[in-house]
This record gives sequence, C-alpha cells and structure tokens, in this order.
Amino acid sequence: MDCIFCAIVAGQAPATILREWDDALAFKPRGGVNDGHTLVIPRIHVADATEDPNVTADAVRRAAQYAAEIGANLNLITNVGPDATQTVFHLHWHIVPRAKADGLLLPWTPQHAARAAAAQTGDTR
Ligand code: 5GP
Ligand code: ZN
Repeated sequence: MDCIFCAIVAGQAPATILREWDDALAFKPRGGVNDGHTLVIPRIHVADATEDPNVTADAVRRAAQYAAEIGANLNLITNVGPDATQTVFHLHWHIVPRAKADGLLLPWTPQHAARAAAAQTGDTR
C-alpha cells in the first residue's frame, strides 16, 4: 500500500517522532502551521475517522493524552475527505496549540468569514 504515514510507522520514511505508544504515534507534520503542530495517528491503517470508530477513539485518546500536557488552548481536529481538506488518507488527529491573536483562523468560523468579506471589499479594519 502506498501510504506515507504507514511508511513513517514502519520507519521507512523520515519524520520527527514526538511520542510512541503501542497503538499510535505522534510526529511533526511537514510544514506545520506553528511550532507545536503535531499529528497523532493510529499505527494501523484506516483512511479516516469514519472508517473504524474504535480506531478513531483509540487514536483520539492518545491525542487527548498528549494535548493535556501542552498546557495551552489548542485545536484538536481531523478532516474527513478531500472536500473537507483531507490530503493524507491515513487517519490523523491534528493538535494545534493556540494563542490569543495568533492569526490562525479556522475556515468555517465567523471570524474567518468576516476577514474574507473584508478582504473582498478592501476593508482592512
Ligand atoms: P490533512 O490535510 O490531510 O488533514 O493533513 C495532512 C497533514 O500531513 C498535513 O499537516 C501535512 O503537512 C502532513 N504531511 C503530509 N505529508 C507528510 C510527510 O511526508 N511527512 C510529514 N511529517 N507530514 C506530512
Ligand atoms: Zn497508512
């Protein structure tokens, strides 16, 4: 199977590994959105969070354990399908530590919609 995350699990592709469990792995995404951006994946291959709810639950348990140690606000999210911006089809939980006014907006939030509307009208307030 041609899966970059399975290759990382197998040690056949490089990655900065941050934590290892018997059933999951935490590592740095390539080109993360900030220094703390971390991916948590199950060792077994499932395409996304809907394929096997038990695997999803086990992986998010690991992600929650890891996130609890960060001691900051954060986003813990996963994308399902290309229309939802999933690009790697091996389940992964994104952990993105957040800070007030860090400029990272989630695309569906009212804040993002307001900024996009302002950009269109040239209103930079
Ligand atoms: P998605 O858009 O599918 O939710 O997120 C995919 C994530 O995988 C992104 O954060 C992207 O940077 C990361 N990624 C894609 N290919 C690689 C790779 O080869 N190595 C690592 N470490 N991260 C990757
Ligand atoms: Zn895989």
